[in-house]
Amino acid sequence: MLKSGLQRTGNIKNNARKKADYGGVAGEIDDVMVQDPFCKVYFPKRDAYRLRYDGTDLYFCSEECKDKFIKSKK
Ligand SMILES: [Zn+2]
Repeated sequence: MLKSGLQRTGNIKNNARKKADYGGVAGEIDDVMVQDPFCKVYFPKRDAYRLRYDGTDLYFCSEECKDKFIKSKK
């Protein structure tokens, strides 16, 4: 009785630690928020339309914003 109880506690601890490690890394990669420099909206980087402009990477929420930004700079 006591033995199996201890074993269970050990398993729960292990699982919790694994989940935290994995979640921390995945969360950082997936949930980075960037700002659209044209419409000022924040959105996840993985959905971004990227533009290399003046040596900097800019991230737009849509292709439309990207085009409008490029036109506004000309
Ligand atoms: Zn936008």
